Amino acid sequence: MMIKCITFDLDDTLWACAPVLKVAEEKCYAWFKRYYPKITAKYSEQQLFENRQQYMHTHPEQVFNLTQIRLDWLAQIADEFSYPPQMAQDAFHIFWLARNQVTLFEGVLESLEQLSANFSLGVISNGNADVDHIGIGKYFDFSVNVIDAGFAKPSPEIFHHALTLANYCAQETVHIGDNPECDVLGALNAGLHAIWYNPKQDIWLEDKKPSAIIQKLNEIETKINFIG
Ligand SMILES: [Mg+2]
Repeated sequence: MMIKCITFDLDDTLWACAPVLKVAEEKCYAWFKRYYPKITAKYSEQQLFENRQQYMHTHPEQVFNLTQIRLDWLAQIADEFSYPPQMAQDAFHIFWLARNQVTLFEGVLESLEQLSANFSLGVISNGNADVDHIGIGKYFDFSVNVIDAGFAKPSPEIFHHALTLANYCAQETVHIGDNPECDVLGALNAGLHAIWYNPKQDIWLEDKKPSAIIQKLNEIETKINFIG
């Protein structure tokens, strides 16, 4: 069956995630310092980070939804200092704005432009980035996150949710991402094809093999000809 649809992971596939998250945390901390200074008087940025890690550790059932768990943790912080609950929403918005200030990897725009002419493109992400807000939404026909699907990668449910929006079957769809478990094994187990985006040329360690491996997104179209 021919590939008709390509779904993309976002973080560390279209941009580097760590630097953007670092800046987002810094901006949040500066915002607390300015508007909710009791928080920063008690916690350093590192301590606040550890506080959130601790919260996530004690709520493992919620960790798949990174947006909700951050909101819940922020609500707990607001409560600790008797700040209004609205603080949580506002702080999340500060984080979210900064978190979407991404720098696309070289060649991403050109690849999306080219691929969108020949394939239906979609997004399947566990994170809370927003392709419309980032300005690349026009290349994608649909976008699925954890909140939409109620499941996170590698659960097959999130891939199947995407397929209902894609109007293509699993065998006509290839998912592309950097994470061997979430992206490659997740997609393969859901019946899709899977391309491993592996710019650092790591070794593949799993029994199940990706349909193809690429170091740059501009290799996608050539590789797709050999899939399906
Ligand atoms: Mg990723």
